[in-house]
Amino acid sequence: MINVLIFGPPGSGKGTQSVTLAEKYNLLHLSTGDMLRAELAAETALGKKMEAIMAAGELVPDDVVIEMIARKIDCTTGKDGFIFDGFPRTVQQAEALQKMLEARSMKIDLMLVLEVNDAELMNRMKKRALVSGRADDADEAVINNRIDVYRAKTEPVIEYGRQAGISRQVDGVGSIGDIFERLCNHLETVV
Ligand code: AMP
Repeated sequence: MINVLIFGPPGSGKGTQSVTLAEKYNLLHLSTGDMLRAELAAETALGKKMEAIMAAGELVPDDVVIEMIARKIDCTTGKDGFIFDGFPRTVQQAEALQKMLEARSMKIDLMLVLEVNDAELMNRMKKRALVSGRADDADEAVINNRIDVYRAKTEPVIEYGRQAGISRQVDGVGSIGDIFERLCNHLETVV
């Protein structure tokens, strides 16, 4: 089993790339953002509670996403590992994931970090807002807040991976195919 984490600010292409990486390497794609949006769409009690936090571009509480991930890990069969997209986003989430994996005799094998400059991110997000229907894509102030939250709360997780020698920075600007190839080159070293 291999476990890959994909990092990058909002609009860096994590979601797009994770889907094709998951297909190529037979990994289960776990996106906490997608899971939370499914709760919103189904108008569950949890979804209603998280809606305002997500619309503001803030992070939902750690225990909410940790619980979601734990449930998915335990009911998965037939896959060669997991690709975690948008999780962990805080040091607490990273520590919880590490414990979860250790308890199941697994570890984090690779952290891929997509790097995209802020101007390009803003451009992409504005385009995505036209088709995504996401409240958090539609407002420039919310996008900026999401980028700030990423820098403040998620980048420390990347630092932890860097020290552990498992993080790989990847240029996230270029064609989707070229970026995919760059990511695959790193994945090939752990499969
Ligand atoms: P994403 O689709 O990954 O950009 O996530 C959309 C929104 O869902 C984020 O801005 C957060 O409000 C929430 N969210 C997704 N994943 C997490 C996470 N791991 N921790 C906290 N909040 C999250």
